[in-house]
Amino acid sequence: MLSLIGPMREHLDGHKELTSEKELIVLPPVKEAAIALQRGNAKIQCLVQPGDDVKIGDLIAKQDDFFYVPFFAPVSGTVKAIEKRTSLTNKPADHVIIENDGLDRKAELSTLNAEKASKEEIVAFLKEKGIIGCGGAGFPAYFKYNTDKCETLIINCVECEPFITSDAYTAEHDPEDLKYGVHALLKASGAKKCYVAVKETKKELIAVLDPLFAGEKDIEVKKVPDVYPMGWERTLVYELIGKRYERLPIEVGVILSNATTVVMSARAMKTGLPIYEKVVTVSGEAVRDPHNVLARVGTPIRELVEACGGYSAERVSLLAGGPMMGSALIKDEIAIGPASNAVTVRHPDETEAIACLRCGKCVEHCPSGLMPVNIVNALKANDVDRLIKLHTTDCIECGLCTYICPSRIAVTDNIRRAKRLLSLKAKK
Ligand code: SF4
Ligand code: SF4
Repeated sequence: MLSLIGPMREHLDGHKELTSEKELIVLPPVKEAAIALQRGNAKIQCLVQPGDDVKIGDLIAKQDDFFYVPFFAPVSGTVKAIEKRTSLTNKPADHVIIENDGLDRKAELSTLNAEKASKEEIVAFLKEKGIIGCGGAGFPAYFKYNTDKCETLIINCVECEPFITSDAYTAEHDPEDLKYGVHALLKASGAKKCYVAVKETKKELIAVLDPLFAGEKDIEVKKVPDVYPMGWERTLVYELIGKRYERLPIEVGVILSNATTVVMSARAMKTGLPIYEKVVTVSGEAVRDPHNVLARVGTPIRELVEACGGYSAERVSLLAGGPMMGSALIKDEIAIGPASNAVTVRHPDETEAIACLRCGKCVEHCPSGLMPVNIVNALKANDVDRLIKLHTTDCIECGLCTYICPSRIAVTDNIRRAKRLLSLKAKK
């Protein structure tokens, strides 16, 4: 059964101006990098031990099961420890702790000339370098390019989540690598057509993209409406090619990659370096001086916030990602990973929820065409059959139902809980 698509036409105040016009803050490389050896419940094999000398780009761990995902050293120095620390999931996970020697020694790394390489060679290179989706999801990029069914490649420069501007910053300030990466990934995809999607309101980025791809027969810059969640894969595929799919975009011949992933792929091809540093947006009402910050993977979030003037309130709510789809963090010692794109700092919402007004706003605004209020009620009744009938698993956790709810009900959290309940039942 095909997933539903709702109205998906909600314009949100993006607050992008808090960071979009400001200069990048370049953090000094972290003194002690902490790399979380964690990917869901996958088993991660650690390849180093305390006392080992590592250089930037050295392989330090890997996931090698259904997915192959390598983990790399983001600094040069000595492995100080392998110890449990809190990860971005708020749970304890093994971390490789590397004491930075400050020398930025780089491992001898293979590069790739994408103009001469075959599709298979590019895909193998993305796998070797551990290029993951940089839009927040962290899905291994090579995996989706491992197909001969792609007709359309979509480069996603939409970045619809409020506050976040790191993707636009990366694309806007490195057009050369963006162009190189688009050509490389177009070859890797085997697609005949590539759309570079950007919000019609992002004038500065459009001014870079239009001339960059002018005259390209197979690559077209497409302006899409400034509505949330236009950057969501299903919404974007529907907007650009008018097709819906059940599980993955490749079912309708589409691969999507976000702009930072493209730039990171190009940089890896040219320098051999994996993702060892990232532009992360640090924004929100409760940080003094919001900015985009360039930081090494493994840097504690606290250091990024301090670089932006620190917190402007005693009590804050800290999110990895943006306010709609981000996840709450319990402390700022947690280190950023290669997929991190934003840290949002807000005033905690202390308004008490009241009973549902039955206003139907959550139903009206759900981009997945769901009935969130009914899902919440089915969850309360522990009615699994009804949760299935209500297509609960189609929820993309975009956060709109909570955002829109006049009763201040944490609707999305309830739906996450309902999804977890369904997945537990499915495993039994
Ligand atoms: S979070 Fe709410 S609005 Fe968003 S897809 Fe899920 S149910 Fe719909
Ligand atoms: S938006 Fe909130 S108050 Fe309105 S129906 Fe949905 S859950 Fe109830």
